[in-house]
Amino acid sequence: MQRIHPLPDVLISQIAAGEVVERPASVLKELVENSLDAGATRIDVQIEEGGVRLIRVADDGAGIAKEDLPLALARHATSKIGTLDDLERVASYGFRGEALASIASVARTNIASRSTDDGHAWKIEAATARIVPAALAAGTVIEVADLYFNTPARRKFLKSEATEYGHCDEVLRRMALARPDVAFALGHNRSAKLRLAPADGARRARDILGEEFFAHCRSVDVAAGPLRLSGFAALPAYSKASRDAQYFFVNGRFVRDKLLAHAAREAYADILHGARHPAYCLFLELDPAGVDVNVHPAKIEVRFRDGRGVHQFVFHALQRALAAPVAEAFASSGA
Ligand code: ADP
Ligand code: MG
Repeated sequence: MQRIHPLPDVLISQIAAGEVVERPASVLKELVENSLDAGATRIDVQIEEGGVRLIRVADDGAGIAKEDLPLALARHATSKIGTLDDLERVASYGFRGEALASIASVARTNIASRSTDDGHAWKIEAATARIVPAALAAGTVIEVADLYFNTPARRKFLKSEATEYGHCDEVLRRMALARPDVAFALGHNRSAKLRLAPADGARRARDILGEEFFAHCRSVDVAAGPLRLSGFAALPAYSKASRDAQYFFVNGRFVRDKLLAHAAREAYADILHGARHPAYCLFLELDPAGVDVNVHPAKIEVRFRDGRGVHQFVFHALQRALAAPVAEAFASSGA
């Protein structure tokens, strides 16, 4: 019989990493979300070898104070919530304070940052916890290298460089759709892949989803009480053989949710037949207290307090937008 013993901190983080750090794209998602939470207006992402060799995210956000650098890497340490009340109405992407700790436990990680009220930039290397001066005009640069270098079992689950890069690209596109006001750049193996200037929602949707989607879509903007649904929904002419052009955002967070997907499917039921899948990019906004985002560490799942109400609202809003006469539905499409 084995005796019970507490697990070492690093092992706890490595276990938690199993949920948060599924692949390079999950690292990228956490880093970009942190940049957005820090109020960044520009986010520059450089990736090497599908993100396995390196993921580097640079932002112009508020930065991290020198004394806080070790805490940024510590488990259950966050600047985003302090009480259970905060958790119930959380507006930031992050709040669990475990992403960087998990990432640093399975990859070589360092953070360089210059906080807005400090004249100097500092850099911490997770492996040694050493803090040294850095050269940085503003914001934060986080480098995550050699993912799973110390956990070879995980490394085996990684797919080809092209596949992993594809997931990273997809993550960045989702974030870019959610935040058209922010400039994004993406490079892979030192060649530029994506460059997006700050834009309005329509311009950004066009940049990300393409001219063809945009030429065949209706704009949606319906509000009822605390609920609002906005975005773009393609007409059947632009339907797809796969579900890969379905984007749902809840309070700015990309989610995969059966209830929302079902409501959309129903709204299309009369106009889309057979095995085709609708294409859409929809933003649902509601009181944060009406939705629980703390279902899974990766926060891609949500739970609605009033699921029925949300389903009905989304269904009716979308059905109405799809049925509207062309002129009314998209009077500004020529602009
Ligand atoms: P969480 O986002 O849940 O708080 P993380 O482990 O992702 O947890 O980050 C820990 C803390 O590090 C954050 O709460 C934030 O204060 C700080 N941080 C991380 N990335 C950045 C960044 N790019 N800019 C400013 N602060 C950051
Ligand atoms: Mg975070």
